This record gives sequence, structure tokens and C-alpha cells, in this order.
Amino acid sequence: MKLTSAFDSGVMQPFEIVEDEITFDLKSGRNILNVLVEEAPAKLRVKLLLDKNGQKFIIGQGLIVSDDGFSFSAKPLEQVSEDTWQCMLSVPEGNIRIATRYPYGRDGLDKLICDTCGSSDSRWFILREQHRQVPMFQLGQDDGKKTVHYLIAGEDAWETAGSWVADEMIRSIYYGYDIRKELMKNAIIRILPLISPYSATREKGSYTTLDDTGIYGAATWGEASPPPEYAMVKSKVVETIQQGRLGFMMTIHSWQAQSEFTGLETIKSSGDKKLSEARQGWALDVMQTMIDRVPGGKVYFPECIWHPGLARDYLLGEHDVITFRVEITTHSQGIEAFRETGRCFLENLSTISDWRMVYGDQS
Ligand SMILES: [Zn+2]
Repeated sequence: MKLTSAFDSGVMQPFEIVEDEITFDLKSGRNILNVLVEEAPAKLRVKLLLDKNGQKFIIGQGLIVSDDGFSFSAKPLEQVSEDTWQCMLSVPEGNIRIATRYPYGRDGLDKLICDTCGSSDSRWFILREQHRQVPMFQLGQDDGKKTVHYLIAGEDAWETAGSWVADEMIRSIYYGYDIRKELMKNAIIRILPLISPYSATREKGSYTTLDDTGIYGAATWGEASPPPEYAMVKSKVVETIQQGRLGFMMTIHSWQAQSEFTGLETIKSSGDKKLSEARQGWALDVMQTMIDRVPGGKVYFPECIWHPGLARDYLLGEHDVITFRVEITTHSQGIEAFRETGRCFLENLSTISDWRMVYGDQS
């Protein structure tokens, strides 16, 4: 057997091969794995060594595998000792991808862009600053007046379930005539499936700078100079806010299988800004409408942020606007559920037309 991670979003971890069995050591912060096994036996046993944190992320989801390099599914893991889980894989052609997150990297984004270019209603923009770039899909012609919705995934590169949700949103808009027409009536929609693409091939879970430092990129919204990708997205969103046109903004994340629920959330206060009773009621209504029929969907409405500098914290504290975040669960569900989640969000979004309460100053 030979193992490689020399492809987009590939990540290797320490492993040992004994006859028809591979053991991966995913302990202590090494729970991201995405490798290709070549010359594998027809029946391959895979063992994972997991610490407590890795167990929370992976057990309820299973091991992600693909024997055609294209479609991915989860195989259940069986516990064999205190820190070891295993599964038996059938390998029809001698090659199999093994991963702990549903792979989505630049290759997935490239394929999406190729598959969804060339419509009269939609187009791709590239936000660009020197050699850094972030592709942004837009539905609808911008007349400078319409409401603008932002759906932003991949702030944390390895939270790939979120990118799969955004991927399907774009595909269903591109191919689904009815939903496209509904959504375009009152608004334009901007979808960013992967805003932290440069770290998708690293084992670090968030954002990796050019000098190989791992930082929590999603929490840099409040900084004077966020990393370039976040800075470009932030300036787009702030421009829309200043035009008084912001509608539904949601960042799309995934805590893997840690929670069994897909949680939609906003916060009631940030800094000296606190939502009035009326705005709280409105925000809760929006969340309940948006989460309707989303698989495993739940709504959370905490008093304040769990980590400072995240988009909804910065945007409420600094600009007094309400924005949202969702954590897509990978517990007991895979790509079909991520797609269903994307479609439900769009259908639900098309039923809301009044976004004035996003803003604190109603005068
Ligand atoms: Zn995240």
C-alpha cells in the first residue's frame, strides 16, 4: 500500500501499515485527515487512534471514504479499545480516499465555478487584492437599490460541510428556475463558498498565513487589518451596510459531529449595542422561518458572542446590524443532508421580504 496527500485539500497524519490494516494516529490536534490509499487490498481495515476531542468530532459522523474520488460517504466506526475505532472498507479498484471531513477545497470550488458560469441572471465576481482572491457568486443584477443577502462559507477552511451547503445553494439557484425567480424579486444574493481557500490543504483548522502561522481567521472581523480574504469580504459587507441595503447575512460553519443539531444563531448584544424587544422578536422570527425543514435544525439566541471578533459580534457592536451564523452538523448526516440544508435555506429566505429591522437606527 502507498499513501499520498499530494492533492488539493490532502492532509496526512502519522500512520502505520501492518498487512491489510492501516492505523492512523489522530490524537492531540491531528484529527484532520484526507489521504489517498493506492494499491490497497480488496478488504482494508482502517483503525483510528482518537483523543477525547477527536472522538466528539468524528464518532457520530463516521469515516469519510470515496472509491471513485468523486462521491463521498460516511462509514460507521466501531470501538475496539479505549482510544481506538475501526471500520472495514471494500476497495473495488485498489484506490480509496480516506478522510475525517467531507473534502471540499479549491478543486471543489473550481468545479462549481465551471458548472455554474454563463447565466443571464447570475455571475461570478473575483474579489482581488494582489495575489489573494475570493470568488463570489451573485444572483441578480445590482440596480444599487435592492436588498443584498450574504451567505458566507469556509471562513474556517476545514469546516467543509458549510462549503457543501453553499455549493448546493449556488447549484440550485443556477439550475432551479422557480427559486431563482422568487429570490430575485426583491434582492440580490451573494454567496461565497470558500473564503479561506489557502489553508484548505493544511492540517490547521482555521486560517494559515503565508508564513505558516495558524490563526482563527473568522474572529478577525473586528481587527483593523484582517487577513486579506476577510478584509475583502468585510469591506463588501460594510459597503452594503452603509448603503442601507443589508438583508440576511449568514456565515456558514461546521463543528462536525460535536453537536447533533444544525444550529442557527444570532446574539442579543455586543459592546454598548443591545437589541430592542422589537428587534429581538424580529430576529427570532427570522431564525425560526429560516430553520424550517432544515435537517436537525435548531435556533439559539444567546445574550452575547462566545468568541470576540466574529462577524456577528463585530457587525452588531460596530454597525448595529443583525447578522447570523449557522453550524452545520455532520452527526448522522452527509452530503445529501448538506444539500437539502442549502435548498431549505434558500426557499425559506425567499419568503421574507422586509429586512428593515436588520438596522438599529430605524429613523
Ligand atoms: Zn467555524
